[in-house]
Amino acid sequence: MRCPRDQNILIDPDSAQLSVFADNGLHRCEKCQGMLLNAEAAQSAIAREMLDQMHEAFTDEGSEAALDCPICDSKMRVRSIVFSKPDGSNTEPIELDGCPTCSSFWFDAGELQSLVPPLGSAGEDPEERTMALAFLVQMLMLLPHRIV
Ligand SMILES: [Zn+2]
Ligand SMILES: [Zn+2]
Repeated sequence: MRCPRDQNILIDPDSAQLSVFADNGLHRCEKCQGMLLNAEAAQSAIAREMLDQMHEAFTDEGSEAALDCPICDSKMRVRSIVFSKPDGSNTEPIELDGCPTCSSFWFDAGELQSLVPPLGSAGEDPEERTMALAFLVQMLMLLPHRIV
């Protein structure tokens, strides 16, 4: 399976050492550090349910994105998503690419990074940066969200 941005081979969730990847069906690109989430690959029932629910917002709405779904080749669609933080405030909207056919979603690394403060020294090591983004995705999956 290849990265929809740069065609690099995506690393599948099972070969990652941490359960955070397998739980959320997280495929990652080592080149651009974007992440693909897929409901069928997710081992956590909570993540699967959340992804299936998010998928409904992409089946017939959203503008066509330039990306092809790495799983089923459909043209992906782009929408904005806002998460509610535990303190009741909302995050800035970020762009989320979703597949209208299967429950797959693509997060650009830059979009995810806009939600977190600079990662400091961890940001210099690609492996640590990927881990930080994976945990961010894990946390986002537990927050209420709104597609806008
Ligand atoms: Zn990539
Ligand atoms: Zn798809």
